[in-house]
Formats: sequence, structure tokens, C-alpha cells
Amino acid sequence: MQPRLFRTMACGLAGIALSSIVFAQDGAATLFQNVRIYDGKSSALSAASNVLVRGNHIERISAQPIVADGATVIAGNGRTLMPGLIDAHWHTMMVRPNPLQAIAADIGYSNLLASAEATATLMRGFTTVRDLGGPAFGLKQAIDDGLVIGPRIYPSGAIISITGGHGDFRQSFEVPRVIGGGLNRMEQINGTMIADTPDEVRIRTREQLMLGASQIKLTAGGGVASPHSPLDASTFTETELRAAVEAAENWGTYVGTHAYTPVSIQRAIKAGVKVIEHGHLMDEASAKLIAEKGIWLSLQPFLDDKDAAPLPAGSVNRERQMQVFAGTDTAYALAKKYKIKTAFGTDILFSQALAQRQGAQLAKLTRWYKVPELLKMATSTNGELLLLSGLRNPYPGRLGVVEEGALADLLLVNGNPIENIKLIEDPQTNFVVIMKDGKIYKNLVSADK
Ligand SMILES: [Zn+2]
Repeated sequence: MQPRLFRTMACGLAGIALSSIVFAQDGAATLFQNVRIYDGKSSALSAASNVLVRGNHIERISAQPIVADGATVIAGNGRTLMPGLIDAHWHTMMVRPNPLQAIAADIGYSNLLASAEATATLMRGFTTVRDLGGPAFGLKQAIDDGLVIGPRIYPSGAIISITGGHGDFRQSFEVPRVIGGGLNRMEQINGTMIADTPDEVRIRTREQLMLGASQIKLTAGGGVASPHSPLDASTFTETELRAAVEAAENWGTYVGTHAYTPVSIQRAIKAGVKVIEHGHLMDEASAKLIAEKGIWLSLQPFLDDKDAAPLPAGSVNRERQMQVFAGTDTAYALAKKYKIKTAFGTDILFSQALAQRQGAQLAKLTRWYKVPELLKMATSTNGELLLLSGLRNPYPGRLGVVEEGALADLLLVNGNPIENIKLIEDPQTNFVVIMKDGKIYKNLVSADK
């Protein structure tokens, strides 16, 4: 625990003006009185309840008054208490920079930029992010140490890709590389590692595990913004994918792969991959396979709307983007039809403006789901996905639920989000208390002792 003054300074440095910031001391207690609970699973709020948080977990939930001497009391006045939101597909280090900065910026600057974004992320009510690639280990440590204010980060470390695959950002003049030669720029900053044999995949996977990855990310197929790989390309061979899976499983965790197409999805599953990231171009057979094998689908609501990444009209990247958009409705329909374990994530890249609409991305799921279903997805379901990290879980405990014994990541909401999902689009106004790990980072209600 850092001294209060230091934390307040850190917050100020990040440019966030918050009224009434209260930091509970370790082991201290907070009592939420008269709240109606959305527990992360139910389709309705609880009756009026009281919730006692002690240390970093929820100690007691009761309809009867709870006496807790010395606790910070928050008068809920019938507001909703819900779990902190979880974004299952995030890139902590690549939200704020533009594409050129993501490659070329001074690494110190990149970390400061990501630090400011991490604070903003937490202040949007996203208390946990599953990071699917980028050099986020340092920032995660700084957040966990209390040096920087931000969400819990489940880091993958570097994205592992093949030569020319999604994540190979080299220019043509950097090819050919010298076999056995040095690292390219993205490799130097541990953003993306290129691996072209099972042995290379094993080395790069084990390096990320050594650095603290909670899961491993490979790109099994082409991507929208890839400079080189067509969307239809399947990149790693099954043997290469299996090398990563073995290394990850030997370390007690799993591999998730970026994959849009049926071929890349099916190959990844054959190799033992546990999470398909995206999957927008899946067909009936792949959906069936995902369901049968109990594989997770980490899907994003990519639509051709005002939030679509601006890509030049007529460019190959725009064509690929339109292909993905065309698949989004089908992918969600198949996920529902086959009852696939589906996680919610945003995959926001290179746009601070879009990041501010992180909650609005979740609200978009009303196109396919009822509100209780989508709230469940971004809380308890995503929390279940995080448990796949097993013994490499950096934050052991239950996340995404309001239950006795769970980790205390909580939002106090002005209103009932089940009745009005739009509330989550304006966290600044509507999330009046934000708590992570039992500590209050925002409190517009009360600082009474
Ligand atoms: Zn991504």
C-alpha cells in the first residue's frame, strides 16, 4: 500500500479530476448500506441489502443491518451495486498510441501513455482487462504495486506470429531477415515475436511465461489491419500451435488464438487451443466443434457503425473489415444457437476516443442479447474465463460476481442497469462509486466514517 498522498499525486498526474477520492487502508472495511444487488448472474436485482467489504474481499451480504465499527459507510439509497466490468479482449499498451507510435515511440513514453489510459479504463468501471498482446508486464506490476491507478491486467505479453502473419508489422525493406540475426523493433519491445518453427514457438512462448504471462496469444490466421496477411490465410501449422499449447499447459495455463476463419478455428482447436479470439467468419461446423469441445469464444461486437476503425475506402484493409462486419451477426447467432461459452471484449486499438465508448460497446450487445444476458457476459462469464489461467492466475479469487468471499471489485450505479443499459455508456455520471480489490478509487456519494 502506497501512502495516500502518493496515490493522490499519481491520480493527479494522470490528469483525472475526481471529487472525493477515498483510499481504504489495507484490511479496512467499507459498508454499502441499502443497495440493490446485481450479482453478475441473476436477471433481476436483489431486495434492499447491505454489503460489507473487508480487506480485498466481500465479507458479508445481508438484508439485515450490518454493524461494522470503523468501516467507511456508503449510503446506497437504493442504488445498484454490481460487479466491476471485465473486458476479455484488450490491449493495454495499444489503446492510446496511433499505429506509428505503437511501433516507433520511445518505450518510456509508451508506458506513460498506457498508464494514463489504464487510469481512464478503471474510471470507466472496467476493473479487469484480459490483455491479448503487448508489452504490458511493467504496467501491470506498477498497478499491482499501487504506483499507477488502473485495472487488474491478465497479460499475454508479446503476440506470437509467423513471418508475414497478423502481428508482423515489418516493412518490406526489412525482409529478408538474417537467419539467426537480430530482433526487429516490435520484438525488441516485446510487442510481437515472430516464430516460424515449433522450436521457435516454444522459445517465444516460454519467454512470455517466464515474464509472467497469465495466458499465451498466437495469431492463427490473417487480420483486418495486418499489413501483410490476407484475412483468409491460416498462419501457424498445427504442430507449431501444439508446441505453444504444450509449453503453456506445462506451465499450468492455456493458449488463445486470434482466428476468424473456419480453417484457422478448427486447426487451433485440434492443436489444443482453449479460446478462439474473434471467430467472426465461423461456419456451422466450426460453431458445432467449438461447442462440443467446450472451447471459449471471445467475440467482439464489430459493426459498420460510428465506432468502426476508420480505414481508407477501397483499401484491402477496408475490404477485410467489411467481411468481418458481415460475419458479426452470424457469429453471434451461432454462438447462441450452440450455447457456446461466449466472452465479451472490445479489442479497441489506437483510439482514445473509442476507448471512452468501451461501455457503449457492451450496450451494443442488445442487438443479440437481453440485458441480463449481456451484463452476465461482461461480469460472471468473463470472470469464469479468467479462471482458465489456473495456477498462473495473477489474482486468485472470484471476479465478476457480488457474493460473499468474492474479490471486492464493485460499482455503485445511479439507477438500474437491467432496466436501462444506457447507464453504462456514461460511467462518469452513473458509476458513483468504483472499488477495486477493496479499495475505493471513486466516491461521489459519501466519505463518511
Ligand atoms: Zn486484439
